[in-house]
Amino acid sequence: MSRNLELFERGKQVIPGGVNSPVRAFGQVGGTPRFVKRAEGAYFWDADDKQYLDYVGSWGPAILGHAHPEVVKAVQDAAVGGLSFGAPTEGEVEIAEEICKLLPSVEQVRLVSSGTEATMTAIRLARGFTGRDLIVKFEGCYHGHSDSLLVKAGSGLLTFGNPSSGGVPADCTKHTLVLQYNDVQQLADTFKELGDKIAGVILEPIAGNMNLIKPSAEFVQALRALTEQYGAVLIYDEVMTGFRVALGCAQGLHGITPDLTTLGKVVGGGMPLAAFGGRADIMGKIAPLGNVYQAGTLSGNPLSVAAGLATLRLIQQPGFHDTLGRRSARLAAGLADAAREAGVTMTTDSVGGMFGFYFSDTVPASYAEATRCDITRFKAFFHAMLDEGVYLAPSAYEAGFISIAHTDELVEQTISAARRALSRV
Ligand code: PLP
Repeated sequence: MSRNLELFERGKQVIPGGVNSPVRAFGQVGGTPRFVKRAEGAYFWDADDKQYLDYVGSWGPAILGHAHPEVVKAVQDAAVGGLSFGAPTEGEVEIAEEICKLLPSVEQVRLVSSGTEATMTAIRLARGFTGRDLIVKFEGCYHGHSDSLLVKAGSGLLTFGNPSSGGVPADCTKHTLVLQYNDVQQLADTFKELGDKIAGVILEPIAGNMNLIKPSAEFVQALRALTEQYGAVLIYDEVMTGFRVALGCAQGLHGITPDLTTLGKVVGGGMPLAAFGGRADIMGKIAPLGNVYQAGTLSGNPLSVAAGLATLRLIQQPGFHDTLGRRSARLAAGLADAAREAGVTMTTDSVGGMFGFYFSDTVPASYAEATRCDITRFKAFFHAMLDEGVYLAPSAYEAGFISIAHTDELVEQTISAARRALSRV
């Protein structure tokens, strides 16, 4: 029996579904999850010692590749000095200064341990700042698993969301409105009707949780203009896009200054670290300055801060994001060519260190369009690539991630593998 299967079966006895986060269970694609034994650079090795070229990268953090020696050294050095203090450290001030330097919209920032905590607190803060209850989110955008953000769209225009998870009372989601991504008219209509009740709008400024979906320029401009006009807080959830799509994040690419930004993944360099920050007048409402409560035993953990600081320094090397962006664009173009040669309907897209491929004849612009792609073909392609030693996200609704360790040569190897895999699907 494969060691992966053995571990999966053993794990299922003591861990629900055998995994500690649902998508790891290969539910959509079927088959046995790969249990990672170790990882280095662009690769990981599974429990059977098989090598995979990894395009998940821990779902985003591994922008430098796995186990970058300078990041590992920073964590080792920090560990020697103590694992957690529950008191402030110099490193926390340093990383906050670094984030504020890189993101002009962030005047003050608070560190937390997960993206979920960052977005949960950002909406609490938007509500506390405005004294309003309504939050607008977009269908297909994922902002972690706090109750009021676990919402699916209601049936029709301007309906309030329903809980998308058991255990979430409808009362918790009744203040969350779910709109369509990229639908400027619906957004404008919503603000016209309810604008003075809306505390904030949260969005993935480049969506990566319904495959890769970009917003139109009109959409992000309308979001900024309407939130400003009605005094609502605009929250850019850059947990995934932050420092990955560009050094200045998605907001830099869009030329938009949000009121609040949430960060995670890359900012912690693979350790549990996330952050929310923005306008000083809004951040001033957070305890201990204001009455909006937020806290954390491990917030600003010294090992996480060390990994984050080392990562933020390394990604500021000249040309880093240009190289990353060029390679993911080449990968996207190569995959599209390979599909064309194989007579398979597929479109692709990329931005910075993120890419998407869609078994569909157009690049989707909304959740509804993303769900129209051919899932059966996706599953077959996923497994054919796995056989080729290429590990893609085990779900058709996730973006792909590349790291700086994915060299031009590795990208070409991936395209060749895709050519063979596509001829078999
Ligand atoms: N926001 C976005 C855009 C995300 O992609 C994620 C996780 O994938 C989160 C928030 C939640 O972050 P975490 O898994 O660290 O709680």
